[in-house]
Amino acid sequence: MSSPSLSLFLRSSLEELKQNGLYNEIDALQGGNGPMIQIKNRPLINLSSNNYLGLAGDERLIAAAERALRQYGVGAGAVRTINGTMDVHEELEEKLARFKQTEAAIAYQSGFNCNMAAISAVMDAGDAILSDELNHASIIDGCRLSRAKVIRYKHSDMENLERQAKAAKESGQYAKIMVITDGVFSMDGDIAKLPAIVDIAERYDLITYVDDAHGSGVLGKGAGTVKHFGLSDRVDFQIGTLSKAIGVVGGYVAGRRELIEWLKARSRPFLFSTAAPPAIAAACVAALDILTGSAELQERLWHNAAYFRQGLERIGFRTGPTETPIIPCIIGEEKLTQQFSRELREEGVYAKAIVFPTVPKGLGRIRNMPTAAHTTAMLDEALGIYENVKKRMGLKE
Ligand code: PMP
Repeated sequence: MSSPSLSLFLRSSLEELKQNGLYNEIDALQGGNGPMIQIKNRPLINLSSNNYLGLAGDERLIAAAERALRQYGVGAGAVRTINGTMDVHEELEEKLARFKQTEAAIAYQSGFNCNMAAISAVMDAGDAILSDELNHASIIDGCRLSRAKVIRYKHSDMENLERQAKAAKESGQYAKIMVITDGVFSMDGDIAKLPAIVDIAERYDLITYVDDAHGSGVLGKGAGTVKHFGLSDRVDFQIGTLSKAIGVVGGYVAGRRELIEWLKARSRPFLFSTAAPPAIAAACVAALDILTGSAELQERLWHNAAYFRQGLERIGFRTGPTETPIIPCIIGEEKLTQQFSRELREEGVYAKAIVFPTVPKGLGRIRNMPTAAHTTAMLDEALGIYENVKKRMGLKE
């Protein structure tokens, strides 16, 4: 029998989530997460995955993983510092460093894990972290775990960041101060103002930390947002994920050799959680080889993103401040946005609604992520469905 206080807590909390429309119904896919997916035997055009380059289903990654499965078995068998490090993990880290043009890199089991690991390995009570108010949940949790004082600055507001950086520095209260930003913000698709952030950081001796989960493989000819701005030698921590453009799973920090050495010595998920399966590392290596060998997939991604965005705007939708292949379609009111998403799905498009509190009230949107793997015919069909649903629901813009 479960504890009465636990039962009470669970029942009332779940009820509250459901009443506020915050309860996630999970739709299991009957197959891979490609440009088309199948749910409940129904094929749908998929505009909700982070598989930007279509690599999650790429035959070359599958073949690399299959070979590694035969060579190493399924599990790594230990944490990295005991004997869970295989040569393929090290090959991945070397390739990540080259990819990011840094001295070294360390790989973790997920991007989420990586932020928890990296922030708390360097920052502590007595330090301060300046964090963009729209930073990802894993950054927020990593900051909390570090016990440093967290100072949020207004989203991409450089005047606000500078004022807070100056105040923190001049207070003399903090041993170290870090500034953390997403490279690409995942809800609006806007890019962080990294040149200004790095200038401010250099003026006030801030450690710079860029989580480029959505920029890696996408911007800067693939190498990410930091490279896009030519700042590779002026950013301390370059974080990436292996789960989005790379198409697999995992996270990493790229930076100076000394920093990576410290993270290998002190970051807790590296020390206390079993290494990623070697077949996963092998698939990531194959993905990096593809990415660094040719710009073809990135070109297709950007072409498809521009095509889809222009199509939505032609139909009369607002797409907000996006500068990347994350393309919001702003609907507005929360219930209307949810209904829009349901109707899209009825007609054959899978695109999730994002509403308050993830985005501000009244700015509910459908978040679209066309990928390199979508064909023009798929995008045209999706745009036709958007237009039909808009007409049927009588939406003005
Ligand atoms: N950082 C950002 C900015 C993200 O968007 C995400 C993914 N949702 C993560 C970190 C976590 O990455 P992963 O899914 O690889 O754990």
